[in-house]
Amino acid sequence: MERACGECWVFVEHKDGRIKQASLELMAKGREVADGLSRELAAVVLGWNIGNVAVELARHGADKVYLVEHPLLERYQVDLYCKAVSDLASEVKPDVILFSSTRVGCELAPKVAKRLRTGMTADCLDLRVDASRGLVKQVKASFGGNVMVEVVTPFHRPQIATVKPGVATPVVKERREVVVRVTPKLDEREVKVRVVEKLETQKEDNLELAEVVVAGGRGAGEEGFRLIRRLAEILGGEIGGTRPAADEGWIPRERQIGQSGRIVSPKIYISLGASGALQHVVGFRRAGLVIAVNKDPKAPIFDHADVGVVADVKEFLEALIQELEKYLNAR
Ligand SMILES: Cc1cc2nc3c(=O)[nH]c(=O)nc-3n(C[C@H](O)[C@H](O)[C@H](O)COP(=O)(O)OP(=O)(O)OC[C@H]3O[C@@H](n4cnc5c(N)ncnc54)[C@H](O)[C@@H]3O)c2cc1C
Repeated sequence: MERACGECWVFVEHKDGRIKQASLELMAKGREVADGLSRELAAVVLGWNIGNVAVELARHGADKVYLVEHPLLERYQVDLYCKAVSDLASEVKPDVILFSSTRVGCELAPKVAKRLRTGMTADCLDLRVDASRGLVKQVKASFGGNVMVEVVTPFHRPQIATVKPGVATPVVKERREVVVRVTPKLDEREVKVRVVEKLETQKEDNLELAEVVVAGGRGAGEEGFRLIRRLAEILGGEIGGTRPAADEGWIPRERQIGQSGRIVSPKIYISLGASGALQHVVGFRRAGLVIAVNKDPKAPIFDHADVGVVADVKEFLEALIQELEKYLNAR
């Protein structure tokens, strides 16, 4: 087995000087893992002129911050980022490297794992620790999403995993700040992609941060989703849904909640016309109050709800919206 220095690393993403929410969540999960293994937690952040990001990371539980700066790292480019992270990992030999299951993390993590000749587990829903063997138990849905499995990397180091956004809550913790400045060896000739023009895309939504999520399933139907949008508007919440709802085009694909979608943790989750399949339920199991509406009293969704209503979605929503509008108009 490869010798490891014992550090637990979290690869941190940032934009316009701000750390991404998914990375802050991962820092919290990384802290748990590092403490469980009695290791140091190090944040690894790449970019150019990003000293402020390093300072911020110390507030989120990092014992150490590797600040990897180079003009060529100003914008994310998978080859350069992969080289910088894996060169540093080859030198320092961390025990664990965690990435978020974001667009960047999903692209970067397997490339880093390949370069370091180690294993990688994608889209973990949780991480646990086997302290006696120094292993990170990487929990993910498998076999078509019907069972949760624990994957371990016993013979190679580092242990690498990507973790779904939404599975942890960021913590603010005062810690000793140690910034290790790293200048990677990168060559202009290695740049394969050049930015010609920057276009504004759609704004990122706040599904993971929403306090109220109103989500529909196949049982809601197209008409039900019109009412779901209205209810979300009244409650100031965000819309989500099941895979069939996304397949039907009633919600954008990126609003699918579940194993192959997003993980949400609102204070209130309202489920309308969803059966309660495990692959969907894993997407909201950290929600506070779960209210489920289904016309079938035996629907499994009721096993995951605090409040269950046996009703037709459309009738339920029409009545609820009418009452809420009456209340709002009377104020
Ligand atoms: C590898 C894999 C990954 C997956 N990932 C995801 C994922 O990320 N997210 C996800 O959602 N699914 C995912 N799925 C699919 C998942 O297994 C289920 O098929 C899906 O969640 C079912 O969606 P649904 O509840 O909307 O539809 P259905 O299972 O068809 O349920 C519809 C429900 O609506 C009720 N209903 C019907 N009409 C009404 C009405 N008028 N009023 C009230 N209730 C009504 C019915 O009683 C039923 O319970 C995945 C599957 C696999 C194999």
